[in-house]
Amino acid sequence: MSVIEGKKAKEILKKAEFIAVLTGSGISAESGIPTFRGNDGLWKKFSPEELSSFEGFYRNPAMVTEWYRYRRKIILGTKPNPAHLALADLERIVTEFYLITQNIDRLHQRAGSKKVIELHGNIMENYCIKCGKVFDIEEFDCVYEKFEDHVPRCECGGYIRPNVVWFGEPLPEEAFSEAYKAAVNCEVFISIGTSGAVRPAADLPRYAKYNGAYLIEINPERSYLTDIADLWVKGKAGEVLPQFVEEVKKLKGMK
Ligand SMILES: [Zn+2]
Repeated sequence: MSVIEGKKAKEILKKAEFIAVLTGSGISAESGIPTFRGNDGLWKKFSPEELSSFEGFYRNPAMVTEWYRYRRKIILGTKPNPAHLALADLERIVTEFYLITQNIDRLHQRAGSKKVIELHGNIMENYCIKCGKVFDIEEFDCVYEKFEDHVPRCECGGYIRPNVVWFGEPLPEEAFSEAYKAAVNCEVFISIGTSGAVRPAADLPRYAKYNGAYLIEINPERSYLTDIADLWVKGKAGEVLPQFVEEVKKLKGMK
């Protein structure tokens, strides 16, 4: 049984040379990454706002720093799944490709994806809230060990925070404008494992569709996007995406 059904879908994917993809938490969940809504063990007593907002960080930087170290450790213990690998593969077979993600775990990069647009930042980097200096994991851990209170501070004296988008913060402007450009210019837009409810990321598939792209949704359940999607591939990304990419290759005469 094929996952790309219908003559039109096949024709479009055969010719498509510009594909944009949006991924959400569903694809990370398949690698075993929890949603981290603050309901795991030790962290239960804190509200998501305390753990993931600038106000929470400013009030208690030591706690928020530990929370992100804990999450980072869990994420580093996971691996890209077949869906991540299939997307890296898809990038290699078309001329223009952008992978827009709402995930902060960097699993797409670990799977080999190159053009990744991170809408919510990523958990592997930290930056100084005063001068903006970026610290990778090694640099951050080094500074972390240096301070007895385990609240890493930059040479300039500023606190160092995770490079992720917190409650109440806007998306990084450059990333969103790149994502917007990809959405309005692509021929095919594929939305994977996202509810289609959280704006402004959820607007991207709509921008794509209204600008003439063929909209494909890959999701085990219906979402807010299903009704406007041209093709809904029902299933878990890790199960259907590898086959989807194989079928695209076949349509393009690559196999
Ligand atoms: Zn600084």
